[in-house]
Amino acid sequence: EQPAESHAFQAEVARLLHLMVHSVYSNRDIFLRELISNAADACEKLRWLAVSDPALNADGAPLEIVIEADPAGRRLTVSDNGVGMTRQELVDNLGTIARSGTRAFLEQANAAKDAAAGQDGGAKDGSRLIGQFGVGFYSAFMVAARVVVTSRRAGSNEAWRWISDGQGTFEVAPADLADAPARGTRIVLELTEDAKDYAEETTVERVVKTYSAHVPVPIRFAKAGEAASRELTDGSALWAKAKSEVTKEEYAEFYGNVSGQWDEPALTIHYRAEGRTEYSVLLFVPSMKPFDLFDPARKGRVKLYVRRIFISDEVEILPAWARFVRGVIDSEDLPLNLSRELLQSNPLLETIRKGVTGRILTELGKLATSDAEAYLRIWEAFGPVIKEGLYEDPDRRDDLFKIIRFKSTKSGDGWRSLADYVADLKENQTRIHYVLADSPERAAASPHLEGFRARDVEVLLLTDPVDAFWVRTALGYDGKPFQSVTQGAADLDAIPLAEGAPKPDAAAAGAAEVAAVVAFVKETLGDRVADVRSSTRLAESPACLVAPDFGPDKEFEKLMSRSQGR
Ligand code: ADP
Ligand code: MG
Repeated sequence: EQPAESHAFQAEVARLLHLMVHSVYSNRDIFLRELISNAADACEKLRWLAVSDPALNADGAPLEIVIEADPAGRRLTVSDNGVGMTRQELVDNLGTIARSGTRAFLEQANAAKDAAAGQDGGAKDGSRLIGQFGVGFYSAFMVAARVVVTSRRAGSNEAWRWISDGQGTFEVAPADLADAPARGTRIVLELTEDAKDYAEETTVERVVKTYSAHVPVPIRFAKAGEAASRELTDGSALWAKAKSEVTKEEYAEFYGNVSGQWDEPALTIHYRAEGRTEYSVLLFVPSMKPFDLFDPARKGRVKLYVRRIFISDEVEILPAWARFVRGVIDSEDLPLNLSRELLQSNPLLETIRKGVTGRILTELGKLATSDAEAYLRIWEAFGPVIKEGLYEDPDRRDDLFKIIRFKSTKSGDGWRSLADYVADLKENQTRIHYVLADSPERAAASPHLEGFRARDVEVLLLTDPVDAFWVRTALGYDGKPFQSVTQGAADLDAIPLAEGAPKPDAAAAGAAEVAAVVAFVKETLGDRVADVRSSTRLAESPACLVAPDFGPDKEFEKLMSRSQGR
């Protein structure tokens, strides 16, 4: 018999655990959703593995989650007969953090803490974050003084036990097969005195029905010491139901489970596609930014199912600009036994991608007309990501232009669409003018805007880093090309001055005087500039720098030199 080994938690886990143990977050119910979601993941993994290796589920026992309550022993047990964990998996999965989202969560919690250094605010803010984002297995330590995990990996003849009080170390030791699940994982929570309610049947039932009612694996309840158990949820697939049979609350609860977040969905898209290929779609746009939205990997997390069997959440089904969308796509026709790589290149998946992406755009567009306020909340959270599609997904550009919103010299606190812009073109105006800058304030202060202001011409204020990229490759909207205010002669002369606007000096001064000034400046600056010319674009400032007509935009140049400097 091997002795128990003691391991230190990875530093990040230790910090997370500290946050859990000292959490003042009042809704501790959420730990159970996290454990159930892990148990369901494990069952779904086994279901998929058993497709190619039926021996893994030789007993044919239905996959399920059992929750056992023991009020007298002040214990709550969550068991599953899913894939289970090897010794190494116990050490890796329950000792480190793999998810970029959890990392980002920790960074924010820490930043909040630093901001409130010394005050109580830090703990409170960390707790607020716990309440918004699922932080996984470690949330068990909000209610447990000690956690004992016993696991047997499918197909293995060893079982292992993981034990920790969440105080910096955990222990791993071999477990007796007789005392371990035949397959899968059993998690025993030794509840703290103030969390003993979680060993009560009524509490368990309430929490499961509130947060885990539509987990796609059945959940049963048992009392400690009693062999009988009863079903709490039936594990049927919510997405396979007709829209009319699903309530808003059911959608919200399912969204929570599939996204791991605790916000409400801002938009729900539920339909079944029939035709050349059949699939069900239940997707959500979150109302809150997930922590890993700007992770360099730009990965989505939509779950792909094939005929109710979970395949993977790492198949890239949607384009990267839609990576904030969460939910499930369940195909009727994809083969079950393909590797992820082969799935990724399956032409049916391409058909699904096209269909679903188009539908997301349509639904966003519909919302923008039917409930502009709700749409703008989505735009404020995800606009910079959606705009990535303008240069990465040129086929969709025209559809994207319909739902893109802008700040402009005319938007005030609101937002403008390109349709709004074009509807308000001035006499003789043929272009859509924009200014690139790193903030709306800096953009609005640009001297390049003076001539536009004098003519009451609207200028789009492009302040997201992604703007510099798409605006150079987009050909235009509604036949009107985009043009930077720093580029070339701005074709402003043809547009009449607004009433009461100050007359540009060049027009007021004599032609000979202007020519003399231009000659003087040219001579003085010599090679340092390509050209010097008089212009009608300034109304208050005497001079400004512009880029040549077909040269790169000034702000774009700056951006490029910044990124090359790194
Ligand atoms: P996440 O579920 O987002 O990966 P968690 O902290 O909830 O993060 O879980 C960490 C990992 O531990 C899981 O990814 C999984 O590999 C493993 N795990 C947790 N619970 C179980 C379980 N019941 N069965 C098998 N593996 C599990
Ligand atoms: Mg989890």
